[in-house]
Amino acid sequence: MMVKCVDCGREVNCNDAKYVEDYGYVCKHCFEAGWFVCADCGEAYNKDIAVQIPDGRLLCDDCAHKIGRKCVVCREFFYFKKDGVGIQQHEIIYPGGIYSVYICDECAKQIESFWCRQCRRKYRYHEKKFMTFEVLQNMVELRLCPDCYRRRNESKH
Ligand SMILES: [Zn+2]
Ligand SMILES: [Zn+2]
Ligand SMILES: [Zn+2]
Ligand SMILES: [Zn+2]
Repeated sequence: MMVKCVDCGREVNCNDAKYVEDYGYVCKHCFEAGWFVCADCGEAYNKDIAVQIPDGRLLCDDCAHKIGRKCVVCREFFYFKKDGVGIQQHEIIYPGGIYSVYICDECAKQIESFWCRQCRRKYRYHEKKFMTFEVLQNMVELRLCPDCYRRRNESKH
């Protein structure tokens, strides 16, 4: 049977094409260029969402999220914390507020903290990652958490 490759439009023998669920047939050439098969669930996915785990296998993001996360700082994938090593969630200050994000052990070394001089609570921020945001620089410089910083700016008007 001949089938049409959805990606390049060429007619190919179905033995030389791969059927992608909810998408259609993709020829061998196009499949290699833009698709991959998840090593866990066996489904075909667009390469854009491929996550390479430490043992070199490629997983879809659903399967990858069951065993670990990408570090928001270095973008590398790490397994969830186990026996003291791995990635874990950290509450840090972002330009928009306080978020719980996954940061690997190595990048977590660059987490700094300060006490908000208004509410007297301790806040953590990543020394390098988000310091390109001027608003975040201001918060750290003034030692104000996102809430107190917002209140201060509102009262100025
Ligand atoms: Zn093709
Ligand atoms: Zn999968
Ligand atoms: Zn990292
Ligand atoms: Zn505060």
